[in-house]
Parts: sequence; structure tokens; C-alpha cells
Amino acid sequence: MIKIDPILKEIASIFNTNGKEIYLVGGAVRDMLMGKKIHDWDLASSALPGEVAAIVRKAGGKVIPTGIKHGTVTVIYKKHSAEVTTFRTESDYTDGRRPDSVSYAATIQEDLSRRDFTMNAIALGLPAGKIVDPFGGEADSKAKIIRCVGNANERFSEDGLRPLRAVRFAAQLGFTIDNNTLNAISGVLPVCAKVSWERVRDEINKILASNQPSIAFRLMEQTGLLELFLGELSACRNIEQKGFHEFDVLDHSLLACDYAAAKNYSHELRLAALLHDIGKPSVREMGKEGVWTFYRHEEKSEIMARKLLRRLRYSNAIIEKTCHLIKEHMFIYTPDWSNSAVRRFIARVGESYLDDIYKLRHADVFGFAGKEQNHNYKTQNCSLLQLIDRVDKAILQDQAFTIKDLAVNGSDLIKIGIPAGKTLGIILKELLETVLDDPKQNTRETLLKIAQGYSEKLYH
Ligand code: ATP
Ligand code: MG
Repeated sequence: MIKIDPILKEIASIFNTNGKEIYLVGGAVRDMLMGKKIHDWDLASSALPGEVAAIVRKAGGKVIPTGIKHGTVTVIYKKHSAEVTTFRTESDYTDGRRPDSVSYAATIQEDLSRRDFTMNAIALGLPAGKIVDPFGGEADSKAKIIRCVGNANERFSEDGLRPLRAVRFAAQLGFTIDNNTLNAISGVLPVCAKVSWERVRDEINKILASNQPSIAFRLMEQTGLLELFLGELSACRNIEQKGFHEFDVLDHSLLACDYAAAKNYSHELRLAALLHDIGKPSVREMGKEGVWTFYRHEEKSEIMARKLLRRLRYSNAIIEKTCHLIKEHMFIYTPDWSNSAVRRFIARVGESYLDDIYKLRHADVFGFAGKEQNHNYKTQNCSLLQLIDRVDKAILQDQAFTIKDLAVNGSDLIKIGIPAGKTLGIILKELLETVLDDPKQNTRETLLKIAQGYSEKLYH
């Protein structure tokens, strides 16, 4: 028996006493039937938006007209909120993106018939809890199948976002896509191409937030969606690497990304794991010993990732963080690194990025062979631990790793006659280099003397 929240029942009875039907719909019903906790209350009602507002206000609740164009209002009742949408029918999608107009439907059955997948087209009548399931959604969700409501080709042609939603749900829920539904995707790619990059990004974010993002990316590859939206990644297929690597660049990247998701790493780390090697196909060259080389691929990957993330309209903060991680992912530590090499590593990566760069390395190493580091990779494992240890010690010694940590600042240099501007910046960088080499030089007196020397060289 399905347990329905008492507040939800109360909201429903208010509608019923006013002669209106109301149902719980969408993801909430799907999740409830799978025994999961539900987070949003999406409701569908026979009441028109104006009637919803009147009914709710009369009962002491509040109403926010969040999506009036689509017939949706947000209802706030006893500190709980729910989205109430009038039964809808959508007929014309001339641009393949969103319906040209929303018209209201008379029945819940009609409303359910315009929904994307059978598992999302189940309604729970409130307050009694009677299931309305005209398309066999409950059976499909029990069998873990994603299937279009009606004809897949038609449903996808109406809205090019639906194929992406299908692969996203596959990763999120661990479901498989029914063959007819899956096979229809490759035929509607031109419709998918019309979807805005923001909406594509939102789906990619949900894929990355899932436990196993590769499920969706592999389905995207199989159907052509990967080439359409993330061509840089599909170009990594069949780029063989050898050496430590057992997989081509695409499989390696997907393994790294899955690792990042399994370890609950941040969104930027998941993106970095997915994209860290996308520069490899364009820099690959056959080396003398018959082994592929990917010289400075991290730089190429960074440039390509920045372009890709901009295209997907990611925020600058996400782009900068992800790209920095990608650019720095290729450090090769060996125990013979000098202390100053360790300090330079900290300075280059930045203290606040150190944890993430180690995590990215774990994901990267996992992607070599699709397993946790084991004895085969002992050298890397041990050497990373040793590097971390040396980095921690250097940080504890409170040494200077940025210009801000120097014993002098810009205005000190201006006071001794160095003009403000580009040269000043160059000299500060030089001073940091000096201090990274030898922390003992980080005193006011010494640095001012060195700065004086530089400026004399530059100006005389
Ligand atoms: P979640 O919120 O967990 O991602 P959801 O199924 O609730 O999953 P929403 O995007 O919140 O997804 O949409 C709510 C419901 O609206 C869906 O379950 C589906 O019935 C319907 N729906 C959403 N987007 C579409 C679409 N593009 N085409 C057809 N129906 C859709
Ligand atoms: Mg939802």
C-alpha cells in the first residue's frame, strides 16, 4: 500500500470539495512505486490556473504563478510546496523544442498521453491513492524499462530533448531503454540538434550526478547523440594508447568519470575526469619505439575543454576550475624531485586545488585498467603518497607559494622606484621564482635588493 503524506491528502481534499480532480504525477509517482523517497510534488488537476489560485487562497494557502504560460502554479500550503499544472494536451511542436501552444485537456488520461515515457505517465489519484496507468508504466518500471508513450519516432520528433532524457534516466535509474525506443533515436538527430545548449547541459549535469555516467555516454555514442553534442569525446574512440593503458581514450575517460562519480567527487572533478584527455586524438604521434606519444596533450585538452564547456554555457567558475584541473593533471612525480620542485608543483597547482588534483590522479589511474590501483601500479600509488607527504610538509613549513606570500608587495617595489605596470608584475614573479628555489631568500631586505638588481638590468 502506498503511503501518502497527510499534507498532500489535505491539499487534495481542498480540490475535491471544490469539485476538482487532482493527481500526483511524473517522477514522484515513478519513484514512489519503486519504493524511493520522493522530493517534489508535481500535481495535475482539472482546475484551471485561476481556479487553482482561488481554491488554494480560500483555504489559507499561497500561490506563486511560476509557469502560468504552461498552466503551472506553485502552491504553498502549511509550509509545503507543490506544483499544480492543469491537465494539458500538447499537439504542435513545429520547432522540435517546445510546444507552440498549450491547450488544456479534459481528462488525466489525455494529460498522461502527452508525457515522454511510460514510467513517467502514471498518475496517483488523490487523496484515495488510486493508480491511473494507461500505458503500462508500472510494469515497465518494475522491469526497469524506459519506453516511449506511443510511437517513439513521433514522440522524439515532437521534442528533441526526449532522447537525451531517455539516456539520462538510463544512467540515473539504472534502467535499459526498450529497443524500439532506442532505435528511434538515430533517426531524429536533426530534431535533437535544435535543442538549446542550456537544456543539453542540464541533462549532462544530471548524467554526471548519477552513479554511473558511462551508461548514458555509451548510449549516446551508440545512438549518435555523443557525436552530435560532445563530438570531442566521440573522436576519442579507437585512439589506442598502450603502455599502462588497456583501453582507448574514450573508454579510459568513461572509466575515470565513473570512478569520480562512484567516489562522490565534485561536479568539476567529474567533468575534468571525463574531459582530461580530449586533446589526445589531435596530438597523437607514433614515437620511435613504436609507442604512441601524446606530447603536451593536457594543454590541448584544456583548450578544447574550455571551448566545449563554453558551448554548453557553463558558468565561468565551473569552466575555470575544470580547465585548471585538466591543465595540471599530467604531473609526473619521481622521488628524485628536489624540494624546490615540490614547492613549484604547489605553486603551479595552487594550494586550494591540491586535493582535487590528487583525486583526479586516482580517477585517471583507475582508468588505465578499470581497477583500483593494485600491485601492477604500485610505483604510481606509492609515489603519489610520497608526493602528498612532501607537499604537506612543505605547506606546514609555511613557505611562500604565491606572490601574496612574499615578504614584499607591489607598493614596496614602487617605493624603491620601480614603476607600476607590467614590469612590476614580471619582477614579482621573478621574486617568487627565487623564493620557490630557496625559501630563505624570503626576507624584505633580500627581496628588495634582488628587485633593485632586476630593475637596474631592465632600465639601464
Ligand atoms: P526528475 O525530476 O527526477 O528529473 P521527472 O520525471 O520528475 O524526473 P521532470 O523534468 O521534473 O522529470 O518532469 C516531470 C514530468 O513531466 C515527467 O515525469 C514527464 O511526465 C513530464 N515531462 C517532462 N519533460 C517532458 C518532455 N520533454 N516531454 C514529455 N513529457 C515530459
Ligand atoms: Mg521532477
